[in-house]
Amino acid sequence: MPVYMDHHATTPVDPRVVETMLPYFTEFFGNPASLTHAYGKRAAIDVEDARGVIAKFFGVAQNEIYFTAGATESNNIALNLLGPGDHAISSAMEHKSILVPLQRLGKHGVEVTMLTPDAEGFIDPEELRGAIRPNTKLVSIEAANGEIGTLQPIGELGAICRERGVLFHSDITQGAGKVPLDLTNVDLAAFSAHKLYGPKGIGGMIVRRGIRIEPVMLGGGQEKGARSGTVNVPGVIGMARAFWFRDKEMAAEGERLTLLRNELWDRVVAEVPGAFVNGPRERRLPGNLNVAFERVESDAVMLALRHFALSSGSACSSGDRSASPVLLAIGVAEELAYGSLRFGLGKSNTADHVALLVDDLKRNIPRLREISAA
Ligand code: PMP
Repeated sequence: MPVYMDHHATTPVDPRVVETMLPYFTEFFGNPASLTHAYGKRAAIDVEDARGVIAKFFGVAQNEIYFTAGATESNNIALNLLGPGDHAISSAMEHKSILVPLQRLGKHGVEVTMLTPDAEGFIDPEELRGAIRPNTKLVSIEAANGEIGTLQPIGELGAICRERGVLFHSDITQGAGKVPLDLTNVDLAAFSAHKLYGPKGIGGMIVRRGIRIEPVMLGGGQEKGARSGTVNVPGVIGMARAFWFRDKEMAAEGERLTLLRNELWDRVVAEVPGAFVNGPRERRLPGNLNVAFERVESDAVMLALRHFALSSGSACSSGDRSASPVLLAIGVAEELAYGSLRFGLGKSNTADHVALLVDDLKRNIPRLREISAA
């Protein structure tokens, strides 16, 4: 198998997390809503403990954490607060699970303003302030971008929303468990376990006390009515364990990945001609690097670099052959956007991987340019 360098798309489940989950498939398999017997009670107690671990990780109250099937669902639930006549503010940097629901809401009477990021992907708090109208109900700005790694000033953006009495939702999927997040002024947030060495198909949201959310799933009324459906107990247990480890390991791992990423950055720019880094110089996810290579197509580069599992952008758009909307939004020329690759370093990556990758890029990129020029 190739070296995995696509940790923004997903991460492997930490074996210690798998171990914690296993008894919940066979031994403690009860439905946490079955409070008539010990199986259900045990599941209910452990699910609440897991909620407590995640709440502690984020520094919020236990009853402010809700479980969902992942960030897509959490984002949809948050945006479901919007109705005809409301105004919402977001940006083109957001994940499709924000953009597509907003497009649909736009067809159903919700006014949507899209803020323009600067050349490094940052949203200007003053621009946000200027966009707020009397009917603005909700602002949705992500904590971290999964393509170019931009870490948004969510503390500041949220403070403006709070001051103006507007709800602030943040998709924290790419930032949670990777970098410290200032959630003081965040009213709602969405996250997924599989981005932080937990299992897929489980995630959650933070909903501050006093906010009544409109469910997307209707049914048995689990999760205080916010998200009907039997709780994915092994998933919840695994997600809490993943957060527990991130709490202990995130800081050191972040430092290690920053050094590794900077090494890759410096070497690619110095040793591969016609390579330009997309995105911010600072305030960037530790494991993220996004590079535009002149006069090549990223698909051809990925094919040539067969020892590495890479991507050109969001996995949710990887079937889509158009240029990355995030790169276009920060003003990268279309041609360069087509030649851009995203490197997503994670726990398994080493200095040897970086050295091998640089060698591969140095060997292949000039060769591909010659082929396409011939
Ligand atoms: N938001 C962001 C920023 C993401 O990167 C992703 C996953 N690519 C999601 C939301 C959706 O997460 P999931 O697919 O786990 O629902």
